[in-house]
Amino acid sequence: MTLTFLGAAGTVTGSKHLVTIGDRRVLVDAGLFQGEKRWREMNWAKFPVDPGSISDLLLTHAHLDHCGYIPALVKAGFRGTIWCTPDTIELAEIVLMDSAHLQEQDAKDAAEGGWSKHNPPLALYTQEDVQTTMRLFRPIDFDVDVDLREGLMVRLTRAGHILGSACVNLTHEGRSILFSGDLGRHDHPVLKPRGVPQGADHVLMESTYGDREHPEPEGLPHEEFAETIRRTVARGGSVLVPAFAVDRTEAVLKVVTEMRKAGRIPEVPVFVNSPMALAALKVYRSSEELRPDIHVDDFTDLKGLREVTSAEESMALNDPKFPCIIISSSGMATGGRVVHHLEHMLPDPRHSVVLTGYQGAGTRGRMLLDGAKELKMHGRYVPVRATIVQDKEFSVHADCSDLLDWLRDLPRKPRTVYLVHGEPDSAEALKQRIVTEFGITCVVPRHGEVVSVEAGAAQPAPEVPTPDHVGSPVVVPPATTTPAPSASGGLTTLQLANRMARALESGDGAALAQVLAGPVLVDGATADTSVWAQELRGFELVDLVDAGRRAVARGLAAGREVVLFLSLDGGRITGVEQVGGPRPASPGSSVLGGSAPQPAPQAPDSPVDRAPAGQED
Ligand SMILES: [Zn+2]
Repeated sequence: MTLTFLGAAGTVTGSKHLVTIGDRRVLVDAGLFQGEKRWREMNWAKFPVDPGSISDLLLTHAHLDHCGYIPALVKAGFRGTIWCTPDTIELAEIVLMDSAHLQEQDAKDAAEGGWSKHNPPLALYTQEDVQTTMRLFRPIDFDVDVDLREGLMVRLTRAGHILGSACVNLTHEGRSILFSGDLGRHDHPVLKPRGVPQGADHVLMESTYGDREHPEPEGLPHEEFAETIRRTVARGGSVLVPAFAVDRTEAVLKVVTEMRKAGRIPEVPVFVNSPMALAALKVYRSSEELRPDIHVDDFTDLKGLREVTSAEESMALNDPKFPCIIISSSGMATGGRVVHHLEHMLPDPRHSVVLTGYQGAGTRGRMLLDGAKELKMHGRYVPVRATIVQDKEFSVHADCSDLLDWLRDLPRKPRTVYLVHGEPDSAEALKQRIVTEFGITCVVPRHGEVVSVEAGAAQPAPEVPTPDHVGSPVVVPPATTTPAPSASGGLTTLQLANRMARALESGDGAALAQVLAGPVLVDGATADTSVWAQELRGFELVDLVDAGRRAVARGLAAGREVVLFLSLDGGRITGVEQVGGPRPASPGSSVLGGSAPQPAPQAPDSPVDRAPAGQED
């Protein structure tokens, strides 16, 4: 059993974790890369393994950075089953349809603007692709064991992050991996609390806020938000709240309702202007996953609450003539109806904008927070004179203490914890805390790294350190260096493959010679080892199937898939046969004269980073 990190390694988006069990491939999450261009371009690269060879996909929750790549995978041939909770299915459909709609719109705009590198400009997938995708979904309830055939079992546990969000526990013949997905705080404002999953040998854990604690409100909750509403209304202005449509709009409505009932804010009309938010709200209305003390009325029992459905109503509201509160997506003002509101409201100093969560670099929300004096929208600059406020109390991500508590509560300690879904500083800070406080081996994996997942029985779980142990933790070597016995003597196939991959990644012929004790065949002809190392420079290992003295390693080099058939003996690789990927230059030619890397196709670009409203904080 191996695990390959194909996304959210070293970044917070693009979650994709490939589990290989013998010949079988299972994927956990298939999220879209967002944010920096170097990541977004990966959405357009060839998927490292044949999507048609993946039998099942387990989806933790409906945020775009976890589900937004699924239709692209289906378009490329995936026909397996997608398993998740019933609420996730409903929310995923809303989020994916919106994502497809935005991409089709982008491609259309690009065609009209003439600035796309594609001719004609392309959407990564269309609404039709999403409809095909939705037919592959199958629901699983929380806390039941589900048999995925051939000894593979799965169990979902409440993650308390957004409606339907789950931790995924996979077990196979005594081996187990637990995927945290995104974790909520210890007290979600609306949802039932997160559950305690069964323990596992190996745990993949998110680390978004691994280096931060959320501030506890001093005095009344959301007081800055309330104060902003009072002041703005008093001067005859309106309050605009950009909010993520899934989860955030519901939380904002609940807070506004509570503040109104407590007499903390004046009675002014409240408009919800986001078609996707309204659809998501319907899912909340029918769900059984709300906290027992929460009733749907808590979100909506508000005199003067109006749902804006038509485009005409929306346009009429762009420049409100009377004090009101407008909640509209997207949350980072990257697109959607909120951009029109901003365009009209920002120049007027009577109005206020209340941002409700993390604002990604390069987004309009971040620019406003950073004090921009003007903002570009629909091709023109608009002066910023309105008051800008951020309410950080709305975050639905666990902070550092919440993450450590989740790990502490597991019924047994994992052997290895892999930290994903975090910027490097965040993941590193959390790693130090985990090593120090629990004495568990903790790894921040590289993108594309493959690790072996072994049974836990051979090795006792490390003790939870008593205070005496703190500072000198019990550290168990990581899975990558505690190999199972294999046909290849001292080193496991995985270790050999990783060494070969590292040598190829750096194009280092000498390092390759240490691990490779035999010929390299390309197209049936023997290649010079050091020339070959140069040709496959930048190689990334993404999958390994170990069959004792033979193994198949799949990887990427220069944007192309490479399959390497390995022969193994005595801790060395005794032969390699390459199929696909870059070819060595003809014998005798310069090692520098290799094939040029093929750039991935370019996504239609946007003036600001496009983060559809399914994005989260
Ligand atoms: Zn999420």
